Order: sequence, then C-alpha cells, then structure tokens
Amino acid sequence: MYHQYVTDISSITTLSLDLRRKLAAQGWQVGRPEIVKAFQSADGTERYLVHCSGPKPETVETVWMPEGDDGEAGDTTDEEPASGTKSWRRATICVSSQVGCAVNCQFCLTAKLGLQRNLTAGEIAGQVVAVLDRHSVRVGRDRVNLVFMGMGEPFLNYENFMAAVRLLVREVGLSPQRMTVSTSGIVPGIERFTEEPNDVRPKLAISLNAPNDDVRAEIMPINRKWPIAAVIDAVRPIRLRPHERITFEYVLLGGVTDQLEHARELARLVRRSGLPAKVNLIAWNPGPSIPYSTPNPETAERFRRTLAGEGIHAFIRQPRGRDIFAACGQLKRTIEA
Ligand code: SF4
Repeated sequence: MYHQYVTDISSITTLSLDLRRKLAAQGWQVGRPEIVKAFQSADGTERYLVHCSGPKPETVETVWMPEGDDGEAGDTTDEEPASGTKSWRRATICVSSQVGCAVNCQFCLTAKLGLQRNLTAGEIAGQVVAVLDRHSVRVGRDRVNLVFMGMGEPFLNYENFMAAVRLLVREVGLSPQRMTVSTSGIVPGIERFTEEPNDVRPKLAISLNAPNDDVRAEIMPINRKWPIAAVIDAVRPIRLRPHERITFEYVLLGGVTDQLEHARELARLVRRSGLPAKVNLIAWNPGPSIPYSTPNPETAERFRRTLAGEGIHAFIRQPRGRDIFAACGQLKRTIEA
C-alpha cells in the first residue's frame, strides 16, 4: 500500500490468489483517500479535493507545488543537487490535518469553515501517498518536501498527526527532515512535540504573524490563550539537529503587520528568543470577504531587508497557486477557480 501504491486487495500479488479472494469475500478492504478533483494553476501548482471515506465522509484539500515555494530556503535540505528526469527538480506537498479549523485566524479562509472533524492518521498519510502516486514520485530518489500547513491545526489533532508522520517515515520512507509542521502556537502540543525523538520529528514552524501580543491577538485570537512568550518558552526545550532552525512564519498584511517598525520589533523578538531561527515572509493571499490587503513586492522586500540588516535570516515565500485558491490560507474547498 505504501511502497507500491496498491489500492485494492486483488493487486497485492505477494499474497496468493486464493488468500486475496478469501479476504475480499470476508469484506476486508484496503484503500486510501481519493483525489476526486484537481485544479491546475498557471504556475504548475495543483490543488486537489481529496475524498476521505469512513463513517463521516468528507473532502479535504491537498496541494502539490512543483519547485516548492521557497519555504525551505535557508535549510540545509535545500542545497542538495537535483536528481532524476522529472519536469520538476523538487516539489512540496502541503497536507491537511483536519477538515476545517477551529483556530479562527482572521486572515485565513479555512477558518470560515469552522472545524468539521479531525482526520485519521490514515487519511493524513493517505493524502500524501495519493499525491506521490499521481506524480509517480520515487521515494528516496526524488526530492519531495512535506509541509503540514494545509487545512487545520495539526497540534489540535496531535495523536493522528504524529501517527501519520510515523507512517510516512517508517512505511513510505520519507525523511522527517524534509517535513515541516506549522502550528498557530498550541502550547500543550508544542510541549509534547519537543519530546518526540528526532527520527520521527518534522521541523517546527511557528505561525507568528505579528511582532507583539497586541497585534497578534487581533489577527489570531488564539494569542489571548497562549501569548508569544508562552509559545517561545514551550519551543525552547526542543533538541534541534545540526543546522536545523525554528521557522517563524510571518504573513504580511498591508498596513497591519508590514511596516518598518514591525520589522524592527520582529527582529528584536527573534533575537531575544535566543532560538536558532529564520523568518519566512508570506505576502497575504487574498480570500473572498476577508478585509485585508496584500502588500506589494517592494514592501515585502523592504521588510525582508530590514530583518536581514538586523542579522535575522529572512526569506520571502513565493505565492503558489493563488489563481486556484491553493496558496497559504486559501484552502476552503472552493470549487470555483
Ligand atoms: S491559519 Fe492555520 S491555524 Fe489559523 S485558521 Fe487557518 S488553518 Fe487554522
């Protein structure tokens, strides 16, 4: 199922025909979430509606980004040579962990769905396997990164999320060093995560998005429960691998978080944290009925330069798949593209 991308019992040729027939007759099934619709962006990104069956059937969204979005920039994993004969040299899969989300970040379209349900470990790992199969990815040879930054807050579905990571590492053969999980700052989840052994621990990204508690609480109500200092304290015990850094994700909202004073304050905050860290800047991706504006590329670059001038490693993530609502914060089972 995980290596040969088998989706039904009759194809498991390592079992005798007789046994396969018996298993099928007894009602045993194997399977995985199914890509039922694909939206293609002009930039090569693909957004999938993925059907998860089970007692409460639902669709979630998974995104394939050939060439990635530079979210891995500044990491050691990004510096390896390209391999193979594919049309892409590297790719990133953005994976969902819940149907909808309860965290209610004000700039995010997924938040509008509310939380419908948690995904099971099989549904989380199965999204990845379905996409690997679609693109004939050869695990171990092709460069594929996973980001758990799709629909949902992974640390509010902790058991299933980590069980999926273990499946993806031990059964599919993907490296946890090529996986990044992003959290909005769920402190109990971060505390558990820092205790995970490094052989199954993805890299950690904190979705920070503001340089202080006042602004953050306005755009991320979760900050009232777990303010920035509590989040950073929870991260501190993590045992980072050599050259590994914590990523602070930072959405630039026009006029709200993208000013020079915000950049300077952010630089101070990152320095004071004492964590080996980098900052990923994301110009906000528009969504219907969300009242923010997208800063222009010059403003984003000026923000990055200000951070760099203060000694902070900062990178701008390229918007991927905006035209099909596949970009960060845009996943909401939108049929229109
Ligand atoms: S940004 Fe992430 S955590 Fe926040 S509402 Fe959207 S999906 Fe949930």
